[in-house]
Amino acid sequence: MDMIDPFGRTISYLRVSVTDRCDFRCTYCMAEDMAFLPKKDLLSLEELDRLCTVFIEKGVRRLRLTGGEPLVRKNIMHLVRQLSRHLESGALEELTLTTNGSQLARFAAELADSGVKRINVSLDTLDADKFHKITRWGHLDKVMAGIDAAQAAGLKVKLNAVALKDFNDAELPEMMRWAHGRGMDLTVIETMPMGEIDADRTDQYLPLSLLRASLERQFTLTDIPFKTGGPARYVHVAETDGKLGFITPMTHNFCESCNRVRLTCTGTLYMCLGQEDAADLRAPLRASEGNELLADAIDEAIGRKPKGHDFIIDRRTSRPSVSRHMSVTGG
Ligand code: SAM
Repeated sequence: MDMIDPFGRTISYLRVSVTDRCDFRCTYCMAEDMAFLPKKDLLSLEELDRLCTVFIEKGVRRLRLTGGEPLVRKNIMHLVRQLSRHLESGALEELTLTTNGSQLARFAAELADSGVKRINVSLDTLDADKFHKITRWGHLDKVMAGIDAAQAAGLKVKLNAVALKDFNDAELPEMMRWAHGRGMDLTVIETMPMGEIDADRTDQYLPLSLLRASLERQFTLTDIPFKTGGPARYVHVAETDGKLGFITPMTHNFCESCNRVRLTCTGTLYMCLGQEDAADLRAPLRASEGNELLADAIDEAIGRKPKGHDFIIDRRTSRPSVSRHMSVTGG
């Protein structure tokens, strides 16, 4: 039985934040001094597997592990290996993950061996000093080693860069050339007002319509229908023969085609990245050994999926549109 929401959208994509912890503190994502969940509140890997399995039985075809940083969750490869049985059975089309790349050198080969075919690596700059500045705790050479290891293991890598005014806007053409030169697509993302950070988001926000206009002065961009199941809209870049994706939740949302829901590491299901409404799946998960209660709770939650988000970044509203940080639901 497919999961179909009140607006007729089929839900076939689950993103799972396996931990809210991260080894970076990107300035647009988190405050430096973050309070994380006590470890005892986390679902076990077995519980996460059971939850994912019920979603797959209910029609999820794509599953993305995210965080926090998914590769800092202890024993995460156990979950990846468990979930890969659904790839082997054909129930799941794709198992993938979004990572900051810091631990990839260690895990790339095992990920590829477990049936993961492509991953997204978040990278906002190629300049080592700027990288350290934006991530506060990250080191570019480790991420580069991670990307090398991923490509060597045969994983298809896509880069995600949050477009930040006066930080990386001037560098994005060079990043795109570099990514395409190495056979990687690049997706740029508008910064979203999620969670309190130490900076003013109005200073960071760059509408991608401006970036696209500036790129079009140097490159020939052609809209293409290419899709990866997510919200990016792609263009082909003639000069580099690569794909550039735009994720534009602020200037142009694509909620009408949203096929996603998001599960946190405590078993909370968010039906929309940009709304506060959520459903607790931990109680029905733990209430019985069978999955009926869980399946009913999921159906009830999908029945409440909202039409869309209404993010606003504006100097008059200093509070974020959504109080939780991106690290809770994993983007
Ligand atoms: N740690 C992993 C990583 O770095 O990719 C996964 C989690 S991270 C929260 C997922 C993505 O969300 C990253 O590409 C990050 O840059 C992006 N992100 C975080 N906060 C954001 C915000 N407020 N607006 C837009 N993107 C954001």
